[in-house]
Amino acid sequence: MRARVSTEWLSGCSGCHVAVVDLHEKLANLVEDVEFVRVPVLMDEKGYPKADVGIVEGAIRSHHDREAAEHMRKSVKTLVAFGSCACYGGPSGLGWLYDQKSVIDETYSSGPTNVQGQVPDGQVPVLEDGVVPLDEVVEVDFYLPGCPPHPYFIAAGLRALLGAQAPPLSTKPVCAECTRKMRKRPGVELQKAAVTAPDPELCFLSQGVICLGSVTLNRCQAPCPANGIACTGCAGPSADLIREPHLDLRTMVAKRMQMLTGVAADDVARYVEASAKTFYAYAVASPAVYRKPTVELREWAGDAAPVPAQAGKEA
Ligand code: SF4
Ligand code: SF4
Ligand code: SF4
Repeated sequence: MRARVSTEWLSGCSGCHVAVVDLHEKLANLVEDVEFVRVPVLMDEKGYPKADVGIVEGAIRSHHDREAAEHMRKSVKTLVAFGSCACYGGPSGLGWLYDQKSVIDETYSSGPTNVQGQVPDGQVPVLEDGVVPLDEVVEVDFYLPGCPPHPYFIAAGLRALLGAQAPPLSTKPVCAECTRKMRKRPGVELQKAAVTAPDPELCFLSQGVICLGSVTLNRCQAPCPANGIACTGCAGPSADLIREPHLDLRTMVAKRMQMLTGVAADDVARYVEASAKTFYAYAVASPAVYRKPTVELREWAGDAAPVPAQAGKEA
């Protein structure tokens, strides 16, 4: 019997959908009898046909997102939060730090690209007061983070979901796939604002550059450090960070850098806090991150507006 697959996109960039479409042929070859009954990027299907597997991209940002998520949950047997936006809020999760009015004012009323100062009217979905991941609104069965997830993990995850033999997905961090070597280099200084470093063989941390590979789940096969750019954590928190309530990104990275270079862990941690919108950019809206007793994102973000009641309900 053909497995029916339905997809939906909420507030995201559609990159995750493009990743699935890129896989279409491989997926069909892999499992042979997949039937896509709803794929917004490919077909004009306004309803929510019944399906075995539902794949949802994007965060809950608007009333429309919330309703669409609920429709998907009711219409599918198994629901997958697909990509870092659905799993953790993703980049649009930074809206978690601002109220609705601030976001609209900044984007439209005073936004540099809107010279007429026009704001959206009733023709566009109404924004919610905050941003939340998919599982804050409906029950989620499986999570596949990544921005977008690498095709290897998409194929492996879908194979398993559709009943085919598939190896278990690794829960190791990005460092496990990175070929750069961590070496002790006492005296190296913290390179603030740097995203690259001169030695292509050495770990970025050993060169004083913040790299989030050790605190990020590997759902990408480490392309950034392989191409000379430090990891910014787009696949979301590592398994350790999710499991352990008192572990957080900044202290783990700070301790590792101190061990490798001698830069005081406190200095690294303060720098990460001062750049919280960068280093926490992909998972800031997730309770898995902001609920930790060691994380004070609102204070670190500094100029953030008061957190709206809906988004801050668990804090
Ligand atoms: S996870 Fe990344 S690629 Fe996917 S929708 Fe969000 S921003 Fe786009
Ligand atoms: S911290 Fe970054 S550069 Fe260092 S091993 Fe991990 S992924 Fe590679
Ligand atoms: S290396 Fe880091 S920033 Fe690059 S794709 Fe992987 S998780 Fe994202």
